[in-house]
Amino acid sequence: MYDVLVIGSGLSGLISAFKKSKEGKRVLIIEKRSTIGGNVYDKPSYNGILEQVYGPHILHTNKKEVVDFLSNFTEFFEYEHKVAISLNGELISMPFNINSLYEVFPRTMASRIEEKLLSKYEYGSKVPILKLKEENDSDLSFLYDFIYNNVFLGYTMKQWGGLRPEDLDAQVTSRVPISISRDNRYFADKYQMQPKHGFTRVCENILADMKNTAIMFNTDFREIVRFDEKNSKVYLDNTIFNGEIIYTACIEDILSENIVLPYRSLRFDKEIISDINSYQKYSVINYSNTQNYTRVTEFKKLTGQENINGTVVIKEYSVDYNKNAGDYSSIPYYPIPIASNFNSYEDIKSRVNSLFPQVKLLGRLAEYKYYNIDDAINNALSS
Ligand SMILES: Cc1cc2nc3c(=O)[nH]c(=O)nc-3n(C[C@H](O)[C@H](O)[C@H](O)COP(=O)(O)OP(=O)(O)OC[C@H]3O[C@@H](n4cnc5c(N)ncnc54)[C@H](O)[C@@H]3O)c2cc1C
Repeated sequence: MYDVLVIGSGLSGLISAFKKSKEGKRVLIIEKRSTIGGNVYDKPSYNGILEQVYGPHILHTNKKEVVDFLSNFTEFFEYEHKVAISLNGELISMPFNINSLYEVFPRTMASRIEEKLLSKYEYGSKVPILKLKEENDSDLSFLYDFIYNNVFLGYTMKQWGGLRPEDLDAQVTSRVPISISRDNRYFADKYQMQPKHGFTRVCENILADMKNTAIMFNTDFREIVRFDEKNSKVYLDNTIFNGEIIYTACIEDILSENIVLPYRSLRFDKEIISDINSYQKYSVINYSNTQNYTRVTEFKKLTGQENINGTVVIKEYSVDYNKNAGDYSSIPYYPIPIASNFNSYEDIKSRVNSLFPQVKLLGRLAEYKYYNIDDAINNALSS
């Protein structure tokens, strides 16, 4: 009855289902939650302020095709994300840039470091901080130490459950940049905007535009899909299913063995504050060496709703992932970027690929990889 089975209705699942339905295929989407959109799901909270239930999400991309695709389902408002880090009670511009130098150091020192940076690197470039350390210059080494100790180390250890930057995959640490510019925007992408009515509305509009598609909410795929490893067969409702399967849930759940790939999870403490209209200067403020939370988000500042009375904020805590706890900590958010985890993933993937060639693994859980929204969309459109 169905040509394609899609497991998960996050951006990866939903948009690949959309693509298949446009190709004339009959599609069944199975979604464990009662909501669409996976982690970009948002819903109205106090006075209609949109709450991004699984953490702050900002759309930024250089991919025109992603913007063109989304434009079919939403209008946008311009939004350039700015983030500060709270250091000793002061708010410092992030990513660390030339403005930040003047915010943290005395003027003469900041100006000396600025000159050195500009003599070595092109204005507008982003330089991994590790490079500063390699320059053999006492000011630049000092700058490296400052950023590492005040901006990077505490945040990293909170975020990754005590792991230090050196413990993580070099890809992560080598990417931490200083921006050789006075541009305080968090992202440098060509397109920076937010959907006018939020991400859930975008997902609902995509779903409404699909023909021959059914979606089952509140259904863990394991209730109706069985991956038979012995015979390399897949059963949907006890009937062999030979069609294509786009799988966007945790990869290890395909196999019968009890394997758990490591993740970090999050806890969001929400506060509704009715008697003030602005809680903080920025939509997101990071905390590195102080507080137990990693960041505080004030939603109305990133959803284009600043004229609404009252405000809603969340404090975000990084917590251990406990797959079977049945509470917030059972949601896998960030794959832990260390080599042994990637190796375990590759083992599982090669088993899945050889047992079930009809399965296409897609998205952050099935590929055990952090994807930004635009990459998730782009990958789904080309799936
Ligand atoms: C805290 C946080 C903040 C982020 N902020 C940004 C940002 O600002 N900008 C940006 O570009 N990107 C951001 N991202 C990345 C963005 O969330 C992802 O790119 C996007 O959500 C990926 O979608 P997905 O469909 O691959 O995964 P998901 O959104 O996780 O979707 C997977 C779906 O599968 C379902 N599912 C899982 N298991 C089962 C099962 N057993 N049976 C049935 N269904 C199941 C889930 O319920 C979910 O709906 C952020 C990510 C996180 C974690």
